[in-house]
Amino acid sequence: MLNEIEILLKVQEKDLKIMSLESRLKENPEIVNKARNILREAENELKAKSDILKKLQVERKGSEIQVESNNEQIAKLDSQAGSVKDNKTYKTIQDEILNLKARISLIEDTMLENMEKCDEISSQIKDLKEQAVRRTDELEKAEAKARKENGDIEKEIRDLKDLKSEIEKNLSPEILSRYYRLLNNKKDAVVVPSRKGSCGGCFMALTPQVIMKLRSEMKIVTCESCQRILYWES
Ligand SMILES: [Zn+2]
Repeated sequence: MLNEIEILLKVQEKDLKIMSLESRLKENPEIVNKARNILREAENELKAKSDILKKLQVERKGSEIQVESNNEQIAKLDSQAGSVKDNKTYKTIQDEILNLKARISLIEDTMLENMEKCDEISSQIKDLKEQAVRRTDELEKAEAKARKENGDIEKEIRDLKDLKSEIEKNLSPEILSRYYRLLNNKKDAVVVPSRKGSCGGCFMALTPQVIMKLRSEMKIVTCESCQRILYWES
């Protein structure tokens, strides 16, 4: 095998490893984002339920005020009834009192419903709060894990790049720039073996002339279809 090819293969091995590490670097923020979105969902739901609870409490306060004012009216009518002489007026007052009592009873029914709803929502809020705490914890763990892992990966990439630049000293700038042009273009292996008369990169059949040049192992040969750098693999 040509010496240059052997060196290029070592460079390529590092580059392919770096590429796969770089794609893993992108995965961790995605996992963190997912955990953040899950937390946000719980927080939004919590906010919605808290708003409902507040609204119910305001409604209940309104009902309490209504009951109070109706009771005051009843008390007033009661004392009026005490000093009334004629039956007709007395009856009118009593009817009015009955009316008010019926109204109070209706309001109290809705208050009871309101209280049941409040209990239900409060218990949902309690669950959601616990959920939010759990999810915050999960998010923090995911963030810490991502920081640690990405730190390790970044170090591994730096080490590989250092190793690579040492190896690259043994190659001419021409061949290196050709290699990098190809690599940036294909984002995949660009120094490939010939296999059964075909290019190991694009799998197109190689011409007999290309095969002959390859077998002689005198100089760098490229695939006419995909421009990848070829080497002979018997
Ligand atoms: Zn090819």
